[in-house]
Amino acid sequence: MSQFDVDLFVVGAGSGGVRAARVAALHGARVAIAEGANYGGTCVHRGCVPKKLMVYASRFPDQFKAGVAFGWSTDAPSFDWKRLIGNKNVELARLEGIYHRNLVGAGVQTFSENAELVDAHTVQLRASGKQITAERILIATGGVPDRQLFEGSHLTITSDEVFDLAELPGRVLIVGGGYIATEFASLLRGLGSEVTQLVRGPSLLRGFDDDIVAVLDEQLRRRGVRLCMNESVKQIYPRNGALDVTATSGQAFDVDVVLLSTGRHPNTRNLGLDRAGVEVDSRGAVIVDKSGQTSVESIYAVGDVTNRLNLTPIAIREGQAFADRHFGKLEVADLDYARVPTAVFTTPEVGVVGLSEKLARANFPHVRVLKTQFGPMASSFAGLQDRVAMKVVIDEDTDRVLGVHILGDGAAEMIQMVGVALTANATWKDFRQTVALHPTIAEELVTLKG
Ligand code: NDP
Repeated sequence: MSQFDVDLFVVGAGSGGVRAARVAALHGARVAIAEGANYGGTCVHRGCVPKKLMVYASRFPDQFKAGVAFGWSTDAPSFDWKRLIGNKNVELARLEGIYHRNLVGAGVQTFSENAELVDAHTVQLRASGKQITAERILIATGGVPDRQLFEGSHLTITSDEVFDLAELPGRVLIVGGGYIATEFASLLRGLGSEVTQLVRGPSLLRGFDDDIVAVLDEQLRRRGVRLCMNESVKQIYPRNGALDVTATSGQAFDVDVVLLSTGRHPNTRNLGLDRAGVEVDSRGAVIVDKSGQTSVESIYAVGDVTNRLNLTPIAIREGQAFADRHFGKLEVADLDYARVPTAVFTTPEVGVVGLSEKLARANFPHVRVLKTQFGPMASSFAGLQDRVAMKVVIDEDTDRVLGVHILGDGAAEMIQMVGVALTANATWKDFRQTVALHPTIAEELVTLKG
């Protein structure tokens, strides 16, 4: 008989925590989980899922426009923000129910309140004060948006609030040049907002391939996003129900909403980590080894709270690996963080796996780059100016494909499959030997010439 109340206590029921708890329970462990907000966490409630629903919504105007050339009449379509948000909320409630039911169905004991660590084997539920002992504790509390402090910063919102605005903002200023800022600039513009995006550096999406970013920049501007590079917010004052924003260059903007998307940090405040002896880094991220173990032998962490690669599928993989290793007694291969496919859901969207040309050149002596740009069939036919850009980065010495970058319709779907090829160490010869599927956008990836 174990000396502990449970074998595993998971703090946080987001993507990583839910996966770890459910799989550990299915392996036969006695598991409990605490969640103070929503089961499903950021991805389901304030991230990937509602964002993607809004991206879908934002793309209908393109289809209405293109439809005319294809013989359709799409007279006077109109958009109802409240209906979208209402339907989104119904969908998220449905998903939350599934997450919770799956946990309970696997035998996990759920506590709908926050928990904090007391020592290496004890957690305390904050609202009820109940203490529970566990052989292992898993911290899976995710991340929260950064909120800079400047004059008027309390008047801004973040991605935590944007999904529940009472109405579609007429004029919005977005601060940041990363995933969230650029996705929201694109989708809010698609829905009809006037969008200005302030980027503190010289270009969008620092770290992404320069050629792809250049085409994205041009396409977003063409769609009406006002991009201001080397620019940040200095101060904000309320004026007549709107916001009067002064940027660091002195430029002024009169907008209805300011969305700050300047990064996220690990959610480790008030978790009792000090008390339990769990070490964190200067950003507050829980420090872990390759297996997710913290400085305390019985305490582990997965997902954004460790601030390694902050993507939902990574948290899920880490949660699965933790449960399989400790409760399934399975051999678990280390995760290859270098070949994780990722996408930016702008319109047009970006899909990437592997190295940018710049990183490849910095790490390999002989690099070959193949690239192309073209107007996709459907939009050329409809007289639209959409572009597709593709780039393949190859190690000339081994012929191995080091990176693939796609901008255009379906880029995210394509890059998922390209990820399989790169994980299998595909060479450029493998790509070339693959027969093209015509007519598709993806066929260009196997017919590229250099
Ligand atoms: P990112 O780290 O992607 O981008 C942050 C942006 O804010 C950068 O452009 C950064 O500039 C800028 N910035 C940082 N501090 C300031 C400041 N003080 N003033 C002005 N600009 C500033 O963070 P996000 O918030 O966009 O996203 C958080 C995480 O969520 C991402 O890392 C990603 O992993 C994940 N995510 C993934 C998505 C996907 O897979 N599609 C979608 C959304 C989020 P600089 O580059 O100069 O540092």
